Amino acid sequence: MTERSSIDASAFAAFDENYRRIREAVAAAAVASGRAPEDISLLAATKTVPPALINHAIDSGIDLIGENRVQELLQKDDAVSRKARRHMIGHLQTNKVRDVIDRVEMIESVHSLKLAETISRLCTARGKTMPVLLEVNIGREESKSGFLPEEVAERTAQIAEMSGLKVCGLMTIPPICDTEIEIRRYFREMLKLFIDIKEKKIDNSSMDLLSMGMSGDFEAAIAEGANLVRIGTALFGRRPAPPPASF
Ligand SMILES: *Cc1c(COP(=O)(O)O)cnc(C)c1O
Repeated sequence: MTERSSIDASAFAAFDENYRRIREAVAAAAVASGRAPEDISLLAATKTVPPALINHAIDSGIDLIGENRVQELLQKDDAVSRKARRHMIGHLQTNKVRDVIDRVEMIESVHSLKLAETISRLCTARGKTMPVLLEVNIGREESKSGFLPEEVAERTAQIAEMSGLKVCGLMTIPPICDTEIEIRRYFREMLKLFIDIKEKKIDNSSMDLLSMGMSGDFEAAIAEGANLVRIGTALFGRRPAPPPASF
């Protein structure tokens, strides 16, 4: 176990304790919102987490992981147990689609028609169907990608017509909020969009997954209807600060 011993053993113990607490909190939030604990999927967001710790998490029961950068996904993927399903959860550039479509089970961050068209073309050529979520820029932030709330329904219909992919729901990263009331308002707006689109029963789309909620706000997200939460820091601890910008 040389790989394992290169990581501070306390990181494994810390994960075990965090995982126990998060599972309890997710289950409690599920029940409080009238659902069963197993109705909520927990995705471990593994950016900056070394493969040995990811594999420990998978051995402990994590069955769904997500990376947000293609380069990091490719660097770590072969060292990570295939027992966990993988989602791409971060910004995906069109020219990187080819690198990820054989490695992930879902792309949660479809933010443009152009990206959807590229996934469609490459997956159709491979004879496969990629489940995707449409990313919604619920806070209308200039700095974030994603469809604007008022265009999501029409984009869902357009993307659902493409071969080689299947729209399975919506994903969002809301703005940083000062209060729980504020963040809940964004989550509630997402649930309304999700339900409205689901009721349209668009062919080749299922609207099963509402992916929202991270370490600081997953309980609020579940309370407002999320059924997939993406948690990093609260499971694996604080990430190292990114290197300073170079000049
Ligand atoms: C990092 C990341 C998360 C998890 O964030 P935490 O605050 O560390 O829980 C969730 N979703 C996406 C897209 C991420 O990049």
